[in-house]
Amino acid sequence: MVLRVYNTLTRKKEVFKPLKSKKVKLFVCGPTVYDFSHMGHAKTYVQFDFIVKYLRWKKYDVFYLQNITNIDDKIIARANERGISSEKLANEFEKKFYEDMEKIGVNSVNKYARATDYIDQIIKQVKRLLEKGFAYKISDGYYFDLTKFKEYGKLARRTVQEAEDGVSRIDDNSEKKNKGDFCLWKFYKKGDPGWDTELGKGRPGWHIEDTAITEKEFGVQYDVHGGAIDLIFPHHEAEIAQMESISGKKPLVKYWLHTEFLKIDKEKMSKSLKNFTTIREVLDKYDGRVVRYFFVSNHYRTPLNFSYEILDQSKNSLDRLNEFVRKLRNSKEKDDLNIINKTKEKIVKALDDDFDTPKAFSYIFDFMRNVNKKGGGKKSYEFIVEINNILDVLDLKEENIPKEILELAKERDRLRKEKKWDEADKVRGKLKKKGYIIEDNERGFKIKKLT
Ligand code: AMP
Repeated sequence: MVLRVYNTLTRKKEVFKPLKSKKVKLFVCGPTVYDFSHMGHAKTYVQFDFIVKYLRWKKYDVFYLQNITNIDDKIIARANERGISSEKLANEFEKKFYEDMEKIGVNSVNKYARATDYIDQIIKQVKRLLEKGFAYKISDGYYFDLTKFKEYGKLARRTVQEAEDGVSRIDDNSEKKNKGDFCLWKFYKKGDPGWDTELGKGRPGWHIEDTAITEKEFGVQYDVHGGAIDLIFPHHEAEIAQMESISGKKPLVKYWLHTEFLKIDKEKMSKSLKNFTTIREVLDKYDGRVVRYFFVSNHYRTPLNFSYEILDQSKNSLDRLNEFVRKLRNSKEKDDLNIINKTKEKIVKALDDDFDTPKAFSYIFDFMRNVNKKGGGKKSYEFIVEINNILDVLDLKEENIPKEILELAKERDRLRKEKKWDEADKVRGKLKKKGYIIEDNERGFKIKKLT
């Protein structure tokens, strides 16, 4: 079956054909590490994690690269507020980001690349842009001249004029040739971090870090670039302008994939609007797999609205699936191979159609209803496990918990709900003696084997 993906560059679903046979070089814009990551970040990173897992399941040899923006205005401002160095602050939140990602099952990235580890490459890029006449120098740094790159706007479908309002993060200066020109290298000012280079002491602009990283790791052209839709303009447009101007080779990227936003009350969840819920806050109440299920069961190009009610619904659906798989695991009933094969075919067809996960999940639930009615055994179980290798939402470990332990845990939960604390504690003690502990959270409990 042929995989088709929606390419923002052409606004069409296209057959997916990497530049070199089955090798896929894939880059997704990473976080700016100055605070805890929020659920909007989780949406983008879980959905790309799933996309990569599906590509690998289809036997593509994917190298997944992600940058870490560890130098930026917001990082500097926050570090100054706290009276610590930007480096210390960025390191702290980079670590927290990895912890969050691990808990929501984002584990497909091959390499995280810190912007500050690519300063030499950044300087090399700015120098080539200067030599070729695409860049110029003013009092506070080097800038890219938008009018020199005739195709500027081809990804976002904007003209250079329309780009004038797209001044990005650190790029305000009245000496610029065009209002929309963006900064490549920002000269040092007191209180900022700075690197001594042949272009003068300073720090990189935002867009150049990504092209420097991808040129070093992938070369001047590669297969897939991702991020959420806010990055199409000006960030991704600027990446195209920089790299295609340097190399003369087009396109920089064959397929541009963009996730839609996680919103809250119809507005993008974001740090600047202060309407965000951190991943950690949610993980205090829900298992990471519920978060993952919420995002994977929705299409990456559909906007989602965040609420705890909707997470409850995800939890209920996932509980039903987990319960189904738990029962299936020990079932000795006869399998219906025809249904298994047909379901697999339908799921793959849906995922091949620009990763249509809602459709794929509807087939999984149809399969569950069918097996619940007509029975199923080892092959049905193996089939679900295989599909879970792509979606990575099921709690397969919990199946190892013996029935007796599960029953005790449920009894304790019932006693707690009835506020019979002493009796509930006795059951907890019993469970501990048998080698299990119970962790309570607002929405239920989790059983863990003592190691
Ligand atoms: P940032 O740390 O703000 O640079 O964002 C890191 C990544 O998360 C980028 O790919 C953003 O486009 C993405 N992102 C930020 N906010 C949201 C949101 N509300 N929904 C989906 N993705 C988002």
